[in-house]
Amino acid sequence: MTEPNTAANAETETIPSRDELIFLATHDLAARTKGRALRLEEFTETTTLGWVPANLGIGPLGHIVDGIPYGSSGDLRLKPDLDTRVRIDTIPGRTPLNLVFADLIELDGSPWESCSRSFLKRAIADLNEHGIDMTSSFEHEFVDMSAKAEPHPFSLQNYRNAEPLGTQLMATLHRAGLEPENWLPEYAENQFEITVRPTTPLASADRAILIRDIVRDLYEAHDRHASFAPVITPGGGGNGVHVHFGLYRADGENLLWDPSRPGRLSVLGGKFAAGIVKYAPDMAALFAPLFTSYDRLAPHNWSTARAFLGLQNREALLRICPTNELDGRDPSSQLHFEFRASDIGANPWLLLGIIIRAGLAGIDEDLDPAPVIEGEADLEGEHKDLAELPGDLANALDRFEASETVRGWFHENFVTTFGAVKREEIAQLKGLTPAKQCEVYTNVY
Ligand code: GLU
Ligand code: MG
Repeated sequence: MTEPNTAANAETETIPSRDELIFLATHDLAARTKGRALRLEEFTETTTLGWVPANLGIGPLGHIVDGIPYGSSGDLRLKPDLDTRVRIDTIPGRTPLNLVFADLIELDGSPWESCSRSFLKRAIADLNEHGIDMTSSFEHEFVDMSAKAEPHPFSLQNYRNAEPLGTQLMATLHRAGLEPENWLPEYAENQFEITVRPTTPLASADRAILIRDIVRDLYEAHDRHASFAPVITPGGGGNGVHVHFGLYRADGENLLWDPSRPGRLSVLGGKFAAGIVKYAPDMAALFAPLFTSYDRLAPHNWSTARAFLGLQNREALLRICPTNELDGRDPSSQLHFEFRASDIGANPWLLLGIIIRAGLAGIDEDLDPAPVIEGEADLEGEHKDLAELPGDLANALDRFEASETVRGWFHENFVTTFGAVKREEIAQLKGLTPAKQCEVYTNVY
């Protein structure tokens, strides 16, 4: 275990707190946090900073791609959402991180057409107009790339070998108000998982972004490297980003609960699920946006074998999660979904936004409730007709662009930019060996 850099510690202690900075943060198509900082002293309730529309054309490979509708002219502002301000001061050897999430707005104050945070806000507003509230939380898996091999999954030894990072991570998330829940050694080699408590949908997506950056910062501070890439080595276990969510009435009643129906899932819940199942193949480029995402999305990986709703099934696209009824606990308030197909390449604001949009489409189109598959799915037999997700990113992109409904949720300039970013990424990666493809993303994520 590398000790925190004590020289850097000494240095940060000599910087007076009045010299702290604050970072105004957005999160881009590549699911990387970007932004600008100013002196904290100068930050006020009306502070905004400049931003460039063409930055939307930066994909995972880190440059602005050709063929996008945003060019060298044009300006936006980063407008902080003051409710999101955090100060993180528990990363050894690092200066405190003051951060506030920002929406991207036009110079007249209106939301920018391609702002992903505003996309989520609009989806939540529509959900609320349907009389539905949501709580959600994101689970993250990642691999400690610098850990020494420990052959047993879930082991105490892996947990101990990761110290003090586990304790520091949980403490950092707790102090930053992110409500950590569990920290665990996971199944794949040197894989770990961090979960946090559910909260309001916008805050849950903001939290997801912060968790990734806090993990990276903490590992870097220890001269270690964590990677959330969907697969680290070809054929190896995957890193998922699973989205748990529940639907409630304003008075708190669980809209998913109906003990008389299959899976104890209400008609409304079944319709919401049906929309997600129906549109999953068209949305795949958004929730599984990387070239290697499709190596993870295969049967027997406990990610998503097919697009279906499963009862407590870890190979389902959408899983009805178990309830804890020990000691007389009430299941009616607990029943909720887990969306399992997504990975680190998906911007959490976009990811949660499309889950909501697809669920609402299920209600608005009055779809039949999604069938609940109980037990293991028999993909060769009884369940062979369950819809498949696209087999690779190129197909996923074609499906997205051909889907009037899913592309219709976005501004056309967003769709064009997304397509240009992903096509360039495909062109760059397809000639590489699978190991090299994994490495490209391991370095970025
Ligand atoms: N690692 C699996 C994935 O890629 C998930 C394992 C689990 O937590 O069920 O999604
Ligand atoms: Mg897991």
